[in-house]
Amino acid sequence: TPLKALTGEVTHICLMIHDVSDIAKKKLHLRETNQKLSHLSRTDGLTGLYNRAHWEHCLSEQFIQCQTLNTPASLVIFDIDHFKNVNDTYGHSSGDSVIRQTAHLLKKTARQADCCGRYGGEEFTVLLPNTNSDQAYYFSERLRKRIEETLVPTDQGDITFTVSLGISEFSSEMENYLAWLESADKALYSSKQSGRNKSTIHT
Ligand code: GH3
Ligand code: MG
Ligand code: MG
Repeated sequence: TPLKALTGEVTHICLMIHDVSDIAKKKLHLRETNQKLSHLSRTDGLTGLYNRAHWEHCLSEQFIQCQTLNTPASLVIFDIDHFKNVNDTYGHSSGDSVIRQTAHLLKKTARQADCCGRYGGEEFTVLLPNTNSDQAYYFSERLRKRIEETLVPTDQGDITFTVSLGISEFSSEMENYLAWLESADKALYSSKQSGRNKSTIHT
């Protein structure tokens, strides 16, 4: 602000300085906290994979994209075989290690664009964009073999385990994304029924 002398001449100016670093720091902190919360609300604490709610959101988006763009995509759902035995024999905490190891192998096998989620306790789901059922089967078998060959060390010895998988490629005949999920689940059920440790494509 200019400050005038009695003669009307500007002889001084007044400067007011507001230090806003505190406000800026708080804003930045708030933004970081919001980002962390948003990440936490989408991920599963044990595995770091997407949680069921967020994964289903991705599925619904992919479903719409497949319908509108007419591009292929496949869905894989899998479940650890006889997991209750793992918990009963080695304890719940070793069971958790098996779940974490499964998630790790899933992340290692999936591509960047694939959307991996922990659907439930020991059930996992993967969305494979631009992938037909034969390619999804290849992915599924690679993951299944990797899991089969893995040892999870515990105090009571190494745990080996297997998974059963179900595969379903998007079809325009599916009424909604839940129908897509259901068809993959049926294929998973077939894998379980026909001896476990295998991949089945829904037909
Ligand atoms: P199946 O081959 O038919 O799948 O047999 P299963 O024994 O795996 O049967 P089921 O899928 O019904 O068992 C799931 C078990 O997984 C039951 C539950 O106690 C256990 N479970 C679910 N969530 C967790 C978890 O976060 N940690 C551990 N350690 N166990 C879990
Ligand atoms: Mg299960
Ligand atoms: Mg199971």
